[in-house]
Amino acid sequence: VVPAEKSEVSVATRTPTTLFSNSVVDLARGDPILYEPYWKKMGDRCKMIISADELMSYFSNSVNLCWFLMSELDRAIRRLHHVVGNAVVDDDRFIIVGNGSTQIFHALLYALSSPDQPEPISVIAAAPFYSSYPMETEFLRSRLYKWAGDANRFDEDQAYIEVVTSPNNPDGSIRGTVVNREGGKCIHDLAYYWPQYTTITRKADHDVMLFTFSKATGHAGSRIGLKLKPYFYSWAIVKDKAIASKMVTFIEVSSIGVSKESQLRASTILGVIADDCQNPKLKEVNFFKHGRRLMSNRWKKLREVVMKSNGVLSLPEYPQGYCKFTGKYTDSNPAFAWLRCKEGLNCEDVLREECGIMTRGGTSFGVEATYTRVSMLCSDAEFNFMLERLSAFNGTLNGN
Ligand code: PMP
Repeated sequence: VVPAEKSEVSVATRTPTTLFSNSVVDLARGDPILYEPYWKKMGDRCKMIISADELMSYFSNSVNLCWFLMSELDRAIRRLHHVVGNAVVDDDRFIIVGNGSTQIFHALLYALSSPDQPEPISVIAAAPFYSSYPMETEFLRSRLYKWAGDANRFDEDQAYIEVVTSPNNPDGSIRGTVVNREGGKCIHDLAYYWPQYTTITRKADHDVMLFTFSKATGHAGSRIGLKLKPYFYSWAIVKDKAIASKMVTFIEVSSIGVSKESQLRASTILGVIADDCQNPKLKEVNFFKHGRRLMSNRWKKLREVVMKSNGVLSLPEYPQGYCKFTGKYTDSNPAFAWLRCKEGLNCEDVLREECGIMTRGGTSFGVEATYTRVSMLCSDAEFNFMLERLSAFNGTLNGN
């Protein structure tokens, strides 16, 4: 189990100003503040005024299974996926909204498990896996499910839920299921399947897909997570509908729905992004194009510095792919750099002690300490500070 300080938000009361001091930069967490200057430039385009008499009811759409989902958000989500082409959102799919994809992950564990099972169902993910999965799974010591570690080592003849993150957090790899047994359950976490991070090769069409506002647009504070689930009129309907209802029940019991202010804000922002994607005159302000440029610039600079480390540090290579969204062959620019130190070195320790850079070490992700994860979603100032520190480190390696 990953200790609380290793969660994505390690100290809830921390403010951005304390993340970065002259001596230390904290790149251990994935707080997506790099998009802040972009949204500042957007000025009033996403401004909303909500008066005190609006949005008062618990209910958004009482005839919908997901009664707390506002129809504005439902439409905006479908439209953006349609424009980007990263997920199938036909009318026969329904959408459930949660307080961040973190709450939906819990809701899914609850919905995919059963109190009638003799043993808690095993939750697995191929290492390196997102460090919050073990913590979230084990947190309540549930009798419904248990964390069972690396999917590559799962050899028990038992029911399981495999979590597949693609592109993966922490290493940016494109992934599919590892354990392919009949009856196996799967959650596809597609938090990073957006054009600024990866090539959009096809519309994802899995049974359960998670997306999050946090990593799509950078608005992590609004806590809007999404889950898409096909809704087939077949025998599976009974089962699927039961799963969907159980998820809604979970969100009802844990938070009685999702803030309508957040939902409206998300609909407005997603709508502005979709407008810009569809208007060729607004090509330059297009959020994803901006995000791609930003991420690809950062990756280029980081690779240049890492290359000068005499082989002490290295980064994964990603194949180019044809991106249906941009219509070009493009590189992947993951949200995290999966940095590796040469054999025998603890990469997190090296970066902290030699460079004053806080990162999250490989053991949090189920692999060796030679790896560490560095957030690429930080502010420009933090990113430049990291480059400076790494360059100075290179200087010491080269005897300068
Ligand atoms: N899944 C993955 C793979 C993530 O990296 C994160 C955030 N770091 C989340 C889910 C959680 O996102 P949210 O802010 O929607 O809870």
